[in-house]
Amino acid sequence: MAKGKSASLKGLGQKYGLKPRKKYTSVHRQLKAQRKCPECGSEKFGREAVGIWICKKCNFKVAGLAYDVKL
Ligand SMILES: [Zn+2]
Repeated sequence: MAKGKSASLKGLGQKYGLKPRKKYTSVHRQLKAQRKCPECGSEKFGREAVGIWICKKCNFKVAGLAYDVKL
């Protein structure tokens, strides 16, 4: 007779750990960070929409990632 083997569902009670929060912080920082326009070097380069980055000076538009742009 096996006994006391029904506790295997335990362990899910821990709330989501630090990871999502840390990720959000870094994403936020990336969003706020100033970046230079690859076309004219102006620092008015920023995210216009998710995945779209635009320079407000020369209107250079580039498709990037949702929260960052790899150039
Ligand atoms: Zn520009």
